[in-house]
Amino acid sequence: MQELSHFIDGRHQSGQSGRFGDVYNPATGEIQAKVPLASREELDRAVQSAKKAQPAWAAVNPQKRARVMMEFIRLLHRDMEALAEILSREHGKTLPDARGDIQRGLEVVEFCIATPHFLKGDYSASAGPNIDLYSMRQPLGIAAGITPFNFPAMIPMWKFAPAIACGNAFILKPSERDPSVPIKLAELMLEAGLPEGILQVVNGDKVAVNAILEHPDISAVGFVGSTPIAQYIYSQASASGKRVQCFGGAKNHMIIMPDADLDQAADALVGAGYGAAGERCMAISVAVPVGDQTADALMARLIPKVEDLRVGPYTAGDDVDFGPLITKEAKERVLGLIQSGVKQGAELAVDHRAFSLQGYEEGFFVGPHLFDRVSRDMDIYKNEIFGPVLSTVRAESYEDAIGLASDNPYGNGVAIFTRDGDTARDFVDRVNVGMVGVNFPIPVPLAYHTFGGWKKSGFGDLNQHGPDAYRFYTRTKTVTSRWPSGIKEGASLNIPVME
Ligand code: NAD
Repeated sequence: MQELSHFIDGRHQSGQSGRFGDVYNPATGEIQAKVPLASREELDRAVQSAKKAQPAWAAVNPQKRARVMMEFIRLLHRDMEALAEILSREHGKTLPDARGDIQRGLEVVEFCIATPHFLKGDYSASAGPNIDLYSMRQPLGIAAGITPFNFPAMIPMWKFAPAIACGNAFILKPSERDPSVPIKLAELMLEAGLPEGILQVVNGDKVAVNAILEHPDISAVGFVGSTPIAQYIYSQASASGKRVQCFGGAKNHMIIMPDADLDQAADALVGAGYGAAGERCMAISVAVPVGDQTADALMARLIPKVEDLRVGPYTAGDDVDFGPLITKEAKERVLGLIQSGVKQGAELAVDHRAFSLQGYEEGFFVGPHLFDRVSRDMDIYKNEIFGPVLSTVRAESYEDAIGLASDNPYGNGVAIFTRDGDTARDFVDRVNVGMVGVNFPIPVPLAYHTFGGWKKSGFGDLNQHGPDAYRFYTRTKTVTSRWPSGIKEGASLNIPVME
């Protein structure tokens, strides 16, 4: 059995706590590796190494730091196939989707090449008599990232690339479900020229997380995962005086107006609802057709497409649309929610509860499910399912539909399909959700914009990547300077006013 390690102080270090987690191959259900779960002492060892290395890294000029990112990008392209294979084997997603996971992280690294530009401060010459005023952005010191299982390449890169480009050291605590790609990323950063101790991977569970939250030398914490843990981390890290941003779960609606191109809408729903087995925070999990006529016409198109989806292991290549769920518990939870939907009166229009894949009976596969006539009091509507299950809630009117999305406690993503620009503009303006798609089902912003949901999907002031990342991972120092020749009077006890 393969035993994974931490990556501390520029090298692999085996776990010392005696505690391990199981890393599965979700397609076969077999345990393929053991991941060490760090103790407080192991986390502290990484912090001490980061503390030693960070000041020299912060002193490296930003252009040179950006060059490390350039080299890292080259290495990511070089190793893309090998990384995608490891990712698919631990996560279960298809190979093209695994490449996409790496690519969407890599794009944030590309954005970090502009670090010298983003770290430029403001300057006001002669703000007062012989007085110049300027601001600069300085790194925070040590930042930590706690990341989820569903994007084991993209989300770690969204966090560590800007943090490190700004001159911080970074400690990554990736998901214990699929930790191998994050470890490989740290190896590649070292190969790209990053000094030892600047990017470290400490594997673990809540023990390591709590050690991060309480460590006095960690200045900032970024989290992505489920909402209850996001809320916990946000409150704990804030209470210990850290800068913190936490991104949580989601329930993303797609509104289909009567004038929409229903073929396009149906294709969009299939991709956004079932891609990666629905294990995406930006997956569409609720279809909201407006009016019964739209709903009937949409269901007529959707049902055969959902029936035709091919479920299987990533090793089957292009013959598979989506793979297994991450664990047996996830599978049981999703099947339990499907059962509750049936019990609470929703219509199960596509039913694969008996799904089993020959040769992969122990894998964590769940077939595609489609519900119609779901109501807002049902558990399948109230909970994030995080599986290949699309619920259809029929809305009576546009106002009913926009209200449904806006009143939902989550506010990550939402989409509207319509041919009417006026409706689309009104929707974009009024909907109470952070990321909006118009005739576009998964509106994940590109690297040069920022990513972040509202309400129970995001806690903290700033979004991830784009210009916000530079605000999050630096603090502003503002300098008022006057040279001695300008000081001609005695002491003044009044607050300075520029005259
Ligand atoms: P999770 O909350 O179970 O785990 C996320 C991280 O928190 C992991 O590193 C895990 O080890 C740690 N953790 C888990 N339980 C903990 C505890 N009790 N105390 C301290 N730390 C703990 O989430 P997951 O299952 O890995 O990921 C799926 C969730 O992430 C979904 O809810 C999904 O919507 C969400 N997600 C959100 C975004 C976003 O940007 N909003 C992006 C991706 C995933």
